[in-house]
Amino acid sequence: MNSQLRHLPQIDTLLQQPPIAQVVAAYSHEEVRSALRLTLDALRDDILSGAAVDLPDFTSEGFARTLADRIEATRQPNLRPVINATGIIIHTNLGRARLAPEALQAMRDIGARPSNLELNLATGKRGSRYDHAEALICQLTGAEAALIVNNCAAAVVLALMGTASGRKVIASRGELIEIGGSFRLPDVIAQSGAVLKEVGATNKTRLSDYADAVDEDTAVLLKSHTSNFRIVGFTSAPSRTALAQLAAERDLILMEDLGSGVLIDLSPFGLRDEPVVADILKAGVDLVMFSGDKLLGGPQAGIIAGRADIIAGLRKHPLLRALRIDKLSLAALEATLRLYLPPHDPLSRVPVLQALSQPLAEVEVRAQKLAASVEVMNGVTASVTPSAAYVGGGSLPQQDLESVSVVVVCDALSPEALGDRLRGGVVPIIGRIHHGKLWLDMRTVTDDELPDIVAALGAIATS
Ligand SMILES: *Cc1c(COP(=O)(O)O)cnc(C)c1O
Repeated sequence: MNSQLRHLPQIDTLLQQPPIAQVVAAYSHEEVRSALRLTLDALRDDILSGAAVDLPDFTSEGFARTLADRIEATRQPNLRPVINATGIIIHTNLGRARLAPEALQAMRDIGARPSNLELNLATGKRGSRYDHAEALICQLTGAEAALIVNNCAAAVVLALMGTASGRKVIASRGELIEIGGSFRLPDVIAQSGAVLKEVGATNKTRLSDYADAVDEDTAVLLKSHTSNFRIVGFTSAPSRTALAQLAAERDLILMEDLGSGVLIDLSPFGLRDEPVVADILKAGVDLVMFSGDKLLGGPQAGIIAGRADIIAGLRKHPLLRALRIDKLSLAALEATLRLYLPPHDPLSRVPVLQALSQPLAEVEVRAQKLAASVEVMNGVTASVTPSAAYVGGGSLPQQDLESVSVVVVCDALSPEALGDRLRGGVVPIIGRIHHGKLWLDMRTVTDDELPDIVAALGAIATS
């Protein structure tokens, strides 16, 4: 063992070897040094662990090639596309909404060339980035005005900072939510400089609870969509209309953190609990905040829609600059919103809506196609099974969508090991382990992605 350790060369000596010097010329001194250090460290660990170690010929072309491959791997992007076979359509860890081709084209166009981001082309004077999509949002939601920021969390913070700093915000104990990433409404209210006044109980809050809590320091009644959980049973909450009336009588602002934000009614697809933005505004809510990359199906963005006088104030807030949306997201958002305008049918144009509205029979065809390709492989079997898909992104926690999965079994690998292999491939495939098997849900996969899945399974079958 010690003699093997003594045979491990010095990095500086290796750098002199002609094959390795060629790698240095192709890449950089630092990268080769670092790759050599990692290689030698791994060998040293193996030797010390008592394993039988075959030392490579450090002077060979083959060793230099392995080194080059190692460096090449580190040069690949860390952030890269994966295949979402989880059955969760809006998966925050997988980047949420896929963008429509129109949105991608808009990002290309605006990214590649200068734009009128902050230039008014009619007057030649300075314009505002906030103007480009405002009229569209108003048209699609019935809002008087709208402001777009970096994400929904930023929208909530800005709305509270701009209307309730140093004053009270009344919220129901049943709606003090935490969404992912430790975004907790009570903490966000505190950070905005407002003071939270909790009312009611976890399961029941009455209009009188809100009314009794209002004092001269109160600025806002805050509703939030309890988007990632549901309290069932003995529950009640006042209607938006009732809250709106109270807010109007007491000169308060009624705002709602909606999270997902749908622009069209999704109840035909069995998704009943996701209120449409236009209906919320119609009920008298003054401001609603929602995400761009959840059910709307666009890029990361946060939209504040509602009363023009309040939004005019938010536009002047000194911290708006820190929360502003970037031009590529804005381009994608505008293009996505345009897909909702007649004569377009957003269900067939916005990928998130396509995925959730796709007829089960089409999902089944995709599953059968994948299973048929696997049939010819050695050591891998696939079966087509009904499954439940979810919208995700914090929306519609209880309502599942009918789906079809391909359950894959590999003779030589445990389900976990098979999942690891698929996740570790050139195009990582993310499935889920369910009932002790690996399931690939076909509602969140597109036909275009099938060949990559077939190739990955094929490589596992033959290896
Ligand atoms: C998702 C969500 C947010 C945060 O939205 P981001 O766009 O991720 O910042 C806020 N509130 C609710 C209710 C949500 O569901």
